[in-house]
Amino acid sequence: GFTEEMARREASRCLECGCLGLSRCMYRGLSKDHGVNVRVAPSRMQYPVKDDHPSIRIDPNKCVVCHRCERSCEFGAIKPIYEEENGVATKREIVIDKRCVSCGACVDACPTGALTKKRVSLPLLPGETEVTKSVCTYCGTGCNIEVHTKHGVIVEIKGDPGRPPNYGALCVKGRFGFEFQRHPDRLRHPLVRKDRDGPFLEASWGDAIDFITKRLSAYKGRFAALSSAKCTNEENYVFQKFVRVVMGTNNVDHCARLCHAPTLSALATTFGSGAMTNSIEEIGNAGSILAIGTNTAENHPVIFLQIKKAVRNGAKLIVADPREIGLCRLAHIWLRHNPGTDVPLLMGMARVILDEGLLNKDFIERQCEGFGAFETSLFNFELGWVSEITGVPPRDIARAARAFAKNPPGSILYGMGITQHSHGTDNVIAISNLALLTGNVGRPSTGVNALRGQNNVQGACDMGALPTFYPGYQSVTDTACKDKFENAWGCNLSDTPGIPLTKVFDAINQGRVKAMYIMGENPVLSDPDARYVEGALRSLDFLVVQDIFLTETARLSHVVLPAACSYEKDGTFTNTERRIQRVRKAVEPVGEARADWRIICNIAKMMGSKGFDFEDPSEIMDEIASLTPSYGGIDYDRIEEKGLQWPCPDKSHPGTRYLHAKGFTRGRGKFIPLRYKSPVENPDDRYPFILSTGRILFHYHTGTMTRRCNILNEIQDGELVELNVHDARGLGIRDGDTVVISSRRGEVKARVRITRRSPRGMVFMTFHFSESPTNQLTSPALDPVARIPEFKVCAVNIKKA
Ligand code: SF4
Repeated sequence: GFTEEMARREASRCLECGCLGLSRCMYRGLSKDHGVNVRVAPSRMQYPVKDDHPSIRIDPNKCVVCHRCERSCEFGAIKPIYEEENGVATKREIVIDKRCVSCGACVDACPTGALTKKRVSLPLLPGETEVTKSVCTYCGTGCNIEVHTKHGVIVEIKGDPGRPPNYGALCVKGRFGFEFQRHPDRLRHPLVRKDRDGPFLEASWGDAIDFITKRLSAYKGRFAALSSAKCTNEENYVFQKFVRVVMGTNNVDHCARLCHAPTLSALATTFGSGAMTNSIEEIGNAGSILAIGTNTAENHPVIFLQIKKAVRNGAKLIVADPREIGLCRLAHIWLRHNPGTDVPLLMGMARVILDEGLLNKDFIERQCEGFGAFETSLFNFELGWVSEITGVPPRDIARAARAFAKNPPGSILYGMGITQHSHGTDNVIAISNLALLTGNVGRPSTGVNALRGQNNVQGACDMGALPTFYPGYQSVTDTACKDKFENAWGCNLSDTPGIPLTKVFDAINQGRVKAMYIMGENPVLSDPDARYVEGALRSLDFLVVQDIFLTETARLSHVVLPAACSYEKDGTFTNTERRIQRVRKAVEPVGEARADWRIICNIAKMMGSKGFDFEDPSEIMDEIASLTPSYGGIDYDRIEEKGLQWPCPDKSHPGTRYLHAKGFTRGRGKFIPLRYKSPVENPDDRYPFILSTGRILFHYHTGTMTRRCNILNEIQDGELVELNVHDARGLGIRDGDTVVISSRRGEVKARVRITRRSPRGMVFMTFHFSESPTNQLTSPALDPVARIPEFKVCAVNIKKA
């Protein structure tokens, strides 16, 4: 503890640290407030400042050994050390070990500036910056942030301690990933070229929009568009409205197709609503957690803290993943199943629950349907066979089943390890079956909890940036829904479902799509079989890309429009737990960049359309609320202080913390029988390894933003292919060697990281690094229902370059 005696001792050496009273020291003020005699000592900088941490500078001279940093660290990675002899300090040190995840919580906790963020060059005293409350721009957790600005420049970002879901916590990207905002590569002016091989020329907004409107008018009906899970709800709303009203088609989709489309298709069928059922905060109070196909520690680091809390409180944690991810260190049971065998694993667990009478009969009778057929299907999942397919010993499957069923409330968390398969919808149904079987739906800390990837992928789906739904999942083929939107928008709408993102490139090659508008997506790096994608985009008659950087996709376009990033505009994001939260402008857009909603409305009006006369995003939200039942009670006044979770049908509704509390949205929860389907592309002699893809903690998606943040780049600046140590030995590959990874679709070079984390026969890559475009390798095989690609399994070869 930090005793009064220690406080007095440290106060007595004020200014000894050499700060000249300019550092962000709260200690001096606190000492005065508490009547501690602050004696000004001469500067005596005894200890060297340490600069070898990628994001944190350590000045031991300023350390008062208060241990705030140590207490703030969820990972036990930091420790201040003080030693003295005869009342004289002999050692003053702050040690950060390799458990550090660079989240920076310790820096914000330090009262004296002994810990500071690298690249925050100004000596910031409390109250010296302007603070804008907003939401993190990266993952679907939706952490609340405080953006600190000075002279119109972002100087740092801190967590907002007073609001859910993060209550002050942030990960490394949320706290340090803002440098891209002022990067010299930002698009600052519209760029136009008359033909694709010509150079881009800077154009005025007037000329660029004139050029677009004239060209687009010729392609009505042969047009497709990609909206953006990085953009606000308001922007996604006006974008899909533009596609439907002005361009006369439902050909609009976005990257949810690549991440959680099976969540929508499966849960809408089994529960009646395709969203995360419960809230992030509830995870910490679960009695058992099954985390399957989610590398939560890296992909949703703040949700990971809730899992840690649950385990601290005694919850049983079952992790199912082929890789030895960070969660495994906390797990009571780790099921290392073979890639693509989630259905047999989950059905095997269900079989144990059935055989041992651990099912919740009362819940099933009262609230579910289809149990008989499901029960019969379970007899195909005999544990010996399940073990053979999954590679998991029967005993472990049984232990996991018992741990989940016997420790209510049980919460199931899953990510793209479940959804990105050619049978992704079946995988989510298998999870839903398990939750129904144990009665873990409709109560706090239970549920089927899809951890959504992007900051606003939930909102982009809610807003109808989907080929089959208007906002609020109202079907484009339902006459009543179509009438409703035709009346509201004053137009005729198409009742033909649009082309999903993963089919649009075939449609281009078949001549059914000739022009595209892509807002804030980079399919050349993010979509499977990327060379095919690039070829299709190159053959378009006309391509408009609206983005914050000249991405690999923007380079193929005829017109590039510079958009404002999330720190530069107002609006709302909806996080993975359905919480609609305010995003606020902290700084002016760079150059001539504009908010996406303004650009779209401008083009729509120039093309002669009515209904785009919005002056402020709050007006767009009012229209959204009037047409989207689950957002009916949302307006900016209500979410000024704290976000609201949908469904929130009217202005007096408090929002919904967990779904299906009073029965399922569809009436009864539906069991669905399943059978095992193997992945489409399996290893063979020519391609003997399985490639699986995903994200890492320090970068995000196609790297467009995080690769332009120095701190994040310094931590990792290139692809590192994970290869099992035994495989590496067999191939004569050493750690750090450059290798060629090849599949039936292409080949990519990258350096190797030799590890036991990935199992034998499997390699793991991210898709963050354009120098190693992993998606040139991945398989375009699709789930037949959700049309999601099988990113998690394709066959590759690997050899030394
Ligand atoms: Fe941002 Fe997600 Fe990190 Fe929170 S957990 S700070 S939302 S990237």
